[in-house]
Amino acid sequence: MIPTKAYAAQSAAATLTPFNFERRNPGAHDVEIDILFCGVCHTDIHFINNDFGMSIYPMVPGHEIVGRVVSVGNHVKKFKQGDIAGVGCLVDSCRDCDYCNEGLEQYCANGGVFTYSGLEKDGKTVTQGGYSNKIVVDERFVLKVSDKLSPAHAAPLLCAGITTYSPLRHWKVGKGHKIGIVGLGGLGHMAIKFAVAFGAEVTVLSTSPGKKEDALKLGAHNFVITTDEEQVKTVASQFNFILDTLSANHDYAMYVGMLKVDGTLICVGLPSEPIHMPAFNIVFTRKCVAGSLIGGLPETQEMLDYCAEHNITSDVEVIPIQQIQQAYQRMLKSDVKYRFVIDMASL
Ligand code: NAP
Ligand code: ZN
Ligand code: ZN
Repeated sequence: MIPTKAYAAQSAAATLTPFNFERRNPGAHDVEIDILFCGVCHTDIHFINNDFGMSIYPMVPGHEIVGRVVSVGNHVKKFKQGDIAGVGCLVDSCRDCDYCNEGLEQYCANGGVFTYSGLEKDGKTVTQGGYSNKIVVDERFVLKVSDKLSPAHAAPLLCAGITTYSPLRHWKVGKGHKIGIVGLGGLGHMAIKFAVAFGAEVTVLSTSPGKKEDALKLGAHNFVITTDEEQVKTVASQFNFILDTLSANHDYAMYVGMLKVDGTLICVGLPSEPIHMPAFNIVFTRKCVAGSLIGGLPETQEMLDYCAEHNITSDVEVIPIQQIQQAYQRMLKSDVKYRFVIDMASL
């Protein structure tokens, strides 16, 4: 077994503290990675707090992992020692259902294995994430990260990147479309970059007036404060698509009101309360409220390659792991510019 250093939550809502555990020795199809950087996703906060009622403790969060390959199993074809590799939100799936066969492992009919707080297919080994110095993953669930990308700036692509790239591709958002991006945080800032790169006209719908300048620098064309009724009126029935990344409970009906006839509200944020809305709001305008979960492995690789080709990465604040609680506090106050990334050398 491989001794591994990490930070973990020992129980719901606990402060993260140092934690030692063991990873499996790499099997024939496994890649052993020394983790360099791990991004901090708002989902980490939801899971630490057991917001979804599925958390397992002790929990080592982290699913935006970039590191260096230190060893590979005999049958590994894609990776060799020294490569830069990434691991996102999934470390396994059944690999046999219709969705897995289509490369949509995130929708595996038998349940994908999440990178942390999940159960391996043996039904008993709890997965532990990237706030750690090492990880061992089957090569099917490991991504190639181009040398052109800075590892720290690439780490958030493994979740924030693919979670926004995938729905924009699925709904073919591009030239001639007006899109609203709700929430300028980790997901939101990647959504702006991709939507702009795909040719759409982008409006950021934010609760933070102080983010206007940054939004425009990131490439957005317009910026609207959603707590200002007058500004909200100006975008009534304006958008073909809205991508909603809000982590906190909010009024979905307000955003549906900003869609044109046939418009689609794509939800990726995961607030704890259900979506409440009169059917009237979608029936009379043939609107659609949809959801999207991360992306499959082939599309995640496509996204990473696209980013290398188009020089797209995340805007990050690199922190030592000892500052993780301060990072969470800032994220809960919507004060993240625009992704915290942990430098694992600090462990
Ligand atoms: P984040 O970096 O913390 O950004 C969330 C943004 O939401 C904030 O920056 C803020 O933007 C806005 N916001 C408005 N009201 C807020 C409030 N009361 N508290 C906190 N934020 C508020 O979060 P993230 O990492 O982008 O994740 C966003 C959500 O997506 C989370 O629920 C996460 O679990 C979920 N997620 C889903 C998937 C998926 O596959 N569907 C993948 C990853 C994450 P403004 O200041 O601009 O208003
Ligand atoms: Zn995430
Ligand atoms: Zn499957």
